[in-house]
Amino acid sequence: MSGSGLIGRTVVEMGAALRSGQVTAADLLDAAIAQRERVDARVHAFLARTDDLAREQARRADERIAREGEAAPPLCGIPVALKDVLCLEGVETTASSLIIRGFRPPYTGTAVQRLLDQGAVVVGKTNCDEFAMGSSNENSAYSPVGNPWDVERVPGGSSGGSAASVAAGVVPYSLGSDTGGSIRQPASLCGVVGFKPTYGRVSRYGLIAFASSLDQIGPFTQTVEDTALVYQAIAGHDPLDSTSAPTPVEDPLTGLRCGVEGMRLGVPREYFVDGLEPGVRAAVETAVEVLRSLGASVEPVSLPSTDAGLSTYYIIAPAECSSNLARFDGVRFGLREASPSLLQMYLRTRDAGFGAEVKRRIMLGTYALSSGYYDAYYRKAQKVRTVIHDEFERVFAQVDALVCPTSPTVAFTQGAREDPIAMYLCDVLTIPVNLAGLPGISVPCGFADGLPVGLQVIGPRFQDARVLRVAHAYEQAAGLARRSPLVAEAAA
Ligand code: GLN
Repeated sequence: MSGSGLIGRTVVEMGAALRSGQVTAADLLDAAIAQRERVDARVHAFLARTDDLAREQARRADERIAREGEAAPPLCGIPVALKDVLCLEGVETTASSLIIRGFRPPYTGTAVQRLLDQGAVVVGKTNCDEFAMGSSNENSAYSPVGNPWDVERVPGGSSGGSAASVAAGVVPYSLGSDTGGSIRQPASLCGVVGFKPTYGRVSRYGLIAFASSLDQIGPFTQTVEDTALVYQAIAGHDPLDSTSAPTPVEDPLTGLRCGVEGMRLGVPREYFVDGLEPGVRAAVETAVEVLRSLGASVEPVSLPSTDAGLSTYYIIAPAECSSNLARFDGVRFGLREASPSLLQMYLRTRDAGFGAEVKRRIMLGTYALSSGYYDAYYRKAQKVRTVIHDEFERVFAQVDALVCPTSPTVAFTQGAREDPIAMYLCDVLTIPVNLAGLPGISVPCGFADGLPVGLQVIGPRFQDARVLRVAHAYEQAAGLARRSPLVAEAAA
């Protein structure tokens, strides 16, 4: 196995090839860099490239594999890409914003550190929507990202670069963050697996905050088994994040062999919304039938407040972001616009540094939190959030997991959704999961109009392994997803 034969391989396949001595971590890195350079003028998935660091990491990984053999960790020597909201010591981290351009974090975040501890090889930071606000990756201050299935279309957002880097065969896995769907939705649009763990399961230390009560880090991969491996590496308590859960992490791999026979799966009727494209509906319904044929019982369930999720989210997330982004003031990080007075410096820096969507959210959030409006908006939204949470709890007393579409549509053309409200609608099916803090995954389930469709599996809090088990059973029965044209091109 060498060169283009390494493009599009999974973490498990690369790990086996490394441990049997067929390839070295240096070979894997060379192939990843070659594919990145072949595709990225069209895809724009990468911001910082970290080749020197990666070569050193690959060298150390090869030494470790030589020393530890089969005992080397599963991610040792395997290339990875990191969403540019994740801090990696000494490497420029911009959150795709101009306001912190040039910021080199003095420390590495916990999830990233846990990958490094296994011997991961970081090939770069990935493009995303500015401060993770968006659903199409068109809000990046640097460049929009192209979908590897059709580069004129969006990859989804906000972790579009992380999804595209896997779909384009540059890396077998990447990390993203999901506040309202930003891992699952781009995974769906790019035809890869994307997993948002239970809130509190993966430490947020070193993740540039958007909305702290919703943000969660998770992986993109080509298979559910690979997702389980990455999840296992990054999950678990971290004293550096006060919202990190002390609950022990169950082994996500053993359950993968158990199948879904006898499991009760619920299909929430409110997730089959008006704007659901017929091709998406058909692919998801076929996937649900596959799960039924594997021995799961499938029943309709109701989550009546689903349609309130979007408006609730668009109060809570902007409120939290208006507070989190107050720290970017031209004093401590990145950009500073020259000015005669301190107040003018703040104003000019924030005006020049933040993009339109970020400003819109800061204004919305400041308004919702201001005295006189706090009760009418913010407190009300928190109450609705509790209702949404309780509805999920009731449904999970009836069924083991939920299956539904991830995104109402397939990837749309860049520039097609200029109206912010139309863009916000992309996440109607993913946002309730964040509001309730649940684990959710998107797994490829076929195509509509030649573009990938995702099946979403949702579980109760801390039943992350169960979500992976259902997704894996479906994926195995349905057969491996097709690879994007950019992977096929490299192999040709
Ligand atoms: N698209 C949603 C938003 O713009 C979700 C973003 C996210 O999950 N980071 O807020």
